Amino acid sequence: MSRYTDFLHSEKWREIKRERLGRAGYGCEECGATKKLVGHHLEYPRNPYDLTANDIQILCDKCHNALHREKARRKKDRAGAKTELQKLRTRQAHAKERFAAVGRRTSHVIR
Ligand SMILES: [Zn+2]
Ligand SMILES: [Zn+2]
Repeated sequence: MSRYTDFLHSEKWREIKRERLGRAGYGCEECGATKKLVGHHLEYPRNPYDLTANDIQILCDKCHNALHREKARRKKDRAGAKTELQKLRTRQAHAKERFAAVGRRTSHVIR
C-alpha cells in the first residue's frame, strides 16, 4: 500500500484526477458538490501506475464517507451479485446525499 502513497504524490495521479474532474464537470459525481472533492478508487490495480481515469470517481467528502461506510457495512455479508450490490449502494448514496443537500441548504439560510 505504500506504493500507493507514493503514487498519490505523483504527477500521473494529478493528471488522472484532472482528467476525471473534467469529465465529472468539476463536481461530485453523486451530488454535484464542488467542495472537498476526492478521487475515490473504484479499482486498485496491482500496479498503481496502471490506474486510469476510469478507475476513479470524483466524490465530495460527504458522498465519499457515505460510500465507505456502506462498503464497510456490506463487507460483513457478501451475499448477492456485485451488480446488485452496486445498484443498492448507489441508491443509498443518492438517498443520503439528498438528505445532506437539504441540510446544506438549510445551513446556508441559517448562516
Ligand atoms: Zn457528493
Ligand atoms: Zn474512497
